[in-house]
Amino acid sequence: MEQTLSIIKPDAVKKGVIGKIIDRFESNGLRIAAMKKIQLDDEKAGGFYAEHKERPFFGELVSFMTSGPVVVMVLEGEDAIMKNRNLMGATNPKEAEAGTIRADFAESIDANAVHGSDSAQSAEREIKYFFSENEVL
Ligand code: ATP
Ligand code: MG
Repeated sequence: MEQTLSIIKPDAVKKGVIGKIIDRFESNGLRIAAMKKIQLDDEKAGGFYAEHKERPFFGELVSFMTSGPVVVMVLEGEDAIMKNRNLMGATNPKEAEAGTIRADFAESIDANAVHGSDSAQSAEREIKYFFSENEVL
């Protein structure tokens, strides 16, 4: 069993598609091991995306991620990291395959509905970044 961190981003929360997105996970063998709705501030969002600090889009990324509440989750299942990335689709929704979360619920590369850990190493860091051990059940 593998665990991965998922975030439903502010655009998707505002649109009212939290339930539809969670259904994609549960219908595809990913169990919700932890979940909470939170408001990120600049420090928490910036620390989360620290790997992108030097990129030209970093400022916009942080302001988007703090523009409204997000839902953070730990998804658990066989091959959870890869499975979640496949369900999400490409970073740019315009390039995302039909039937993926980003193709169906996202508008732009900035407002792209969901985040998912991209490796075992980032999953471990990201889960710890949002959840203590006794919140992952
Ligand atoms: P995420 O980390 O949010 O799951 P990702 O792993 O598909 O997305 P990353 O390369 O990690 O993509 O980029 C993080 C976020 O930064 C993307 O979700 C996107 O919103 C934004 N981003 C990435 N590349 C660009 C770009 N070229 N222009 C604008 N925003 C970008
Ligand atoms: Mg990423």
